[in-house]
Amino acid sequence: MKKRNINSLVRENILNLKPYRSARDDFDSGVLLDANENSFGAPFADDMELNRYPMPHQDELREKISAFRGLSKKNVFVGVGSDEAIDLLFRIFCRPGKDRVIVNPPTYGMYKVSASINDVAVDEVLLTESFQLQPEKIIKAIRPETKLIFICSPNNPTGNSMDVSDIVKILEGFDGIVVVDEAYIDFSIQGSLANNITDFKNLVVLQTMSKSFGLAGIRLGIALADPEVISYMMKVKAPYNVNKLTSVKANLAFSNIDHITKNIKAILAERERVIGKLVTFKEVEKIYPTDANFVMFRIEDALNVYKELAEKGVIIRYRGNEPNCENCLRLTVGTASENDRFFRALQEII
Ligand code: PMP
Repeated sequence: MKKRNINSLVRENILNLKPYRSARDDFDSGVLLDANENSFGAPFADDMELNRYPMPHQDELREKISAFRGLSKKNVFVGVGSDEAIDLLFRIFCRPGKDRVIVNPPTYGMYKVSASINDVAVDEVLLTESFQLQPEKIIKAIRPETKLIFICSPNNPTGNSMDVSDIVKILEGFDGIVVVDEAYIDFSIQGSLANNITDFKNLVVLQTMSKSFGLAGIRLGIALADPEVISYMMKVKAPYNVNKLTSVKANLAFSNIDHITKNIKAILAERERVIGKLVTFKEVEKIYPTDANFVMFRIEDALNVYKELAEKGVIIRYRGNEPNCENCLRLTVGTASENDRFFRALQEII
């Protein structure tokens, strides 16, 4: 299939958009009387100049992320969680009321929500029973209006990684944008597809600091893609989308990679212990293979188990309404003591 160039995929209004130029685009030092900030300062002791707007392009952070992932700064967008990146992709590529996207359920729910918010139609191609992609069916489902295909690997809520050769088939068979959401990639034995963005101009890899980096509270999401796609994301984003508090902590994370690695190892070891213990419950009918920091399992009467766990103060996720996930619960791997509390509660219930 002949590839369309990126420009030809972008909405007309975005192509023609004259982006907002923020006050900090040109100068960030001197006598700053350009941005209607409050020169008298924050209302508490503050060593971060919080009275001043943050840097619009987050160059330092993007530099660190690109070095960490073996890419260039031009390949990196940072936003308010990967949820912002998902929304921006809709706004850049999908004409409301006209264009379509493909998702592969059971998968992360935000793709459909973001599609609805942007008035974009969703075509669904189910994963197989073992939760793998069906590339031939996906390619058949592509219409002239299809602009984005969302793939989640490792997949939420099932936990498994997608077969890379299937993702490549989709990248090669589709001339729109393929979004591979790698929120859980650092828990996976499978490598990131971010190394392939030079081969595939239509590949956008989403990552996040919410999972392996242990920083869900700062809301820092990442998109890795060809510089042309990134430049559109930079053009459309709100001028000061990533705030100073977030960027300081996100930058700090890169001085603590050993700690992150140690925590990932501990989570993976704990995940194996959790699986080992789940197996011992005869009511647990199936534990699905996982490459993420959570485990999906099937259990008799799952909805009630879920509710009774919640009554005991242990909150997990019921996923039984998703296709091929009947009676399935999704359990995040917590600390050993959190997981033990879960097991004690489960034992009491069943
Ligand atoms: N993608 C997937 C697959 C997720 O499971 C989640 C969070 N549950 C996100 C993206 C959202 O990530 P963020 O916190 O960066 O918005």
